[in-house]
Amino acid sequence: MINFNVPPFTGKEYDYIKEAVDNQKICGDGPFTKKCNEWIENKTGTTKALLTTSCTHATELAALLADIKPGDEVIMPSYTFVSTADAFVLRGATAVFVDVRPDTMNIDETKIEDAITDKTRAIVPVHYAGVGCEMDVIMDIAKRHNLLVIEDAAQGIMSTYKGKALGAIGDFGCFSFHETKNFSMGEGGAILIQNEKYVENAEIFREKGTDRSKFFRGQVDKYRWQNYGSSYLPSDMNAAYLWAQLELADEITKARMDRWEQYRDRLSKLAAIGRIELPYIPEYCAHNAHMFYIKVKDLAERTELISFLRSNDILAVFHYVPLHSAPAGIKYGRFNGTDEYTTKESDRLVRLPMYYKLAAEQTDYICDKVIEFYNKR
Ligand SMILES: *Cc1c(COP(=O)(O)O)cnc(C)c1O
Repeated sequence: MINFNVPPFTGKEYDYIKEAVDNQKICGDGPFTKKCNEWIENKTGTTKALLTTSCTHATELAALLADIKPGDEVIMPSYTFVSTADAFVLRGATAVFVDVRPDTMNIDETKIEDAITDKTRAIVPVHYAGVGCEMDVIMDIAKRHNLLVIEDAAQGIMSTYKGKALGAIGDFGCFSFHETKNFSMGEGGAILIQNEKYVENAEIFREKGTDRSKFFRGQVDKYRWQNYGSSYLPSDMNAAYLWAQLELADEITKARMDRWEQYRDRLSKLAAIGRIELPYIPEYCAHNAHMFYIKVKDLAERTELISFLRSNDILAVFHYVPLHSAPAGIKYGRFNGTDEYTTKESDRLVRLPMYYKLAAEQTDYICDKVIEFYNKR
């Protein structure tokens, strides 16, 4: 059976977790967390990076820093994971959904401005498959309307837009280190903060509303309850697992990219004769091979393809059910404009197996089976 995903594992994870345990440093903000934070800062050029317990929590932290209040509106695509909306809905905001572009499946930047009202506070672009949204346009809209930009870069680590790291372009960026992402700590994430003025509050919200981070740096002699907050810092054992992959980030990315390009090359004939569509990468976007998807004719063909692949021991999956059509989306959100592509394109999309140690032979076998499926039709 070829799984859809296998969590990344390099081999060093055991040593680093043992080190954390042996040194009796397993709580939050230990040595491994610090190494990971610094690595992210150096890699992306962001002012401050802080590991969190998930990307969901990083986004919640961003919503707290953005001071999102009941009645506020936050603009995002409907074609995304629930966490993108959850973080803001939890603060009482309404999720205002905008259609996606069919080429990248990212938010259609030309439809954002029409969704802005006097209640709008933030725009949340989601970099689908690690391919950058049109950030120049989005940042310009945000500037003109005085809105914050919170990048859902859950899939975007190691990717760039016009040379800038995804997650480090907007006011805040959120990474995920869930086991399905390029680098993992089981469950985990990080918040990236561009403006120094938010750093102190971020530390307080992340540490149960206390100034404990300052206390540990010796800046105050006792720590106290300063504000409301939560506990968003992960155990250093999880950070130890992640560190083993950040150390080998280039190698992991290259291995994924090799498989991604293999898929693209082998399936390009099917695309050329119009049977399927392949992912589109704008020339100024460097991606991280987070995902390889194809688009088929329609929902019926997708269902048949997935079951054909399954009968050949290959697990391929579809992706998001658009949020505006889900029960909570109806309750807490609204779709602005018309759903021209969100539902139609999401129905056609199939994700093929993609993970760090996926072998070239396995990838060839998967491509053979996709081609066989279309030859028989
Ligand atoms: C994975 C993912 C998340 C959630 O990440 P967690 O770390 O599991 O909270 C949010 N948004 C997108 C687009 C994702 O792909």
